[in-house]
Amino acid sequence: MRQNSSRLKARNKRIGLVPTMGYLHEGHLGLVRRSVKENDVTVVSIFVNPSQFGPKEDFAKYPRNLKRDEKMLRGENTDILFYPSVNQMYPKTYLTYVNIEGLTDFLCGGARPGHFKGVATVVAKLFNIIKPDTAYFGQKDAQQAAVIKKLVSDLNMDLKIKVLPTAREKDGLALSSRNSYLGAKERSDAKVLYQSLLLAKRMAKGGERSSVKIITAAKKLIGKKETAKIDYVEIVDAKTLQPVKKISREVLVALAVHIGKTRLIDNITLKAR
Ligand code: AMP
Repeated sequence: MRQNSSRLKARNKRIGLVPTMGYLHEGHLGLVRRSVKENDVTVVSIFVNPSQFGPKEDFAKYPRNLKRDEKMLRGENTDILFYPSVNQMYPKTYLTYVNIEGLTDFLCGGARPGHFKGVATVVAKLFNIIKPDTAYFGQKDAQQAAVIKKLVSDLNMDLKIKVLPTAREKDGLALSSRNSYLGAKERSDAKVLYQSLLLAKRMAKGGERSSVKIITAAKKLIGKKETAKIDYVEIVDAKTLQPVKKISREVLVALAVHIGKTRLIDNITLKAR
């Protein structure tokens, strides 16, 4: 992969990268399509990264289907599919990790200690191997996007990060590889994530400025679903991700909810009128 990238760079080809953990859906493909449009060569990486999963999380059972993914990527004119093995990425002698301080202590970082250290590490490795001009990420993982932007700016990495809007099912549920874990009742209950974000939006539009009031209402709505257990519902500054008490600028309403055993996340941005 490094040799391929070096050769492409020597020929002044623009490389776009879409890093994924596979089990692709339309959300991933939206990123791929944008990269294909904007670059000479699009690389999609598929790597279920063990260092971003906690010991009690779903690394082993995370859905995988390389054949199906490969077929979907061929349909999108992807140039290169990069799918390293765990041993190639983390040989027994591996010792180096990238830690972004502060930004990773709360929201998903609070609930999943070490998660963003794993994400930043694998993304830094992918950037060094693939040498993209632009890398594409989804707003669905808003904290991840913020962490990666910080990684790139703090470590003087020479590439652009683009963050694209969240792709959703017709009923609003954000597309996610983990949706495949949901049973029928859970799938129906999972709609409440987006519904509670829309409620937050309506309240803010109606003039409500108090984060506590909006969060309380969102939690109440989620609490009505039998299979739902709230991890967090927060309103934070859209750039710094620091909690905001009064909505007076652009904020992110971000939440993580367990539906049965499946942990789902979602978010929307709100602007004060
Ligand atoms: P994953 O395979 O879940 O690690 O996701 C790979 C990339 O796709 C990340 O940048 C995600 O933010 C992005 N992504 C995942 N789901 C969606 C979605 N529903 N809409 C847009 N981007 C997404």
